[in-house]
Amino acid sequence: MPIYEYESIEPGKGCKKCATRFEIIQAINEAPLSDCPNCGRKVKKVISRCRAAIIETSDEYVRTEKKITEYEKKGMWSHAAELADKHSEKSKDRGTKIRALENYKKAGYDLNLLEKHEKTNDN
Ligand SMILES: [Zn+2]
Repeated sequence: MPIYEYESIEPGKGCKKCATRFEIIQAINEAPLSDCPNCGRKVKKVISRCRAAIIETSDEYVRTEKKITEYEKKGMWSHAAELADKHSEKSKDRGTKIRALENYKKAGYDLNLLEKHEKTNDN
């Protein structure tokens, strides 16, 4: 199961747990946390950039990241998802894969069906 990073939306105001970044293991189809499990303050998910940067630092990576972000800003979720999906396969970047799945979700795809589909492809 993937590890997600969260931090308080008001840095410095959180409890011991959320004043700094904390990690939590969640199933991929679980809804993201909106509140700190310890103090209930609002938290947001952090996209771990350093982990991605270690895997791939090429210009192409930066360009692809930009493109995905552009699609996301325009609300072109299926475009963003497909690009992130393709990109994550190439770079073996779990973070980008999660991003792809989130964008698929926003595009209205059924994630359970997608995962089943993936498993079928593996066999
Ligand atoms: Zn807290």
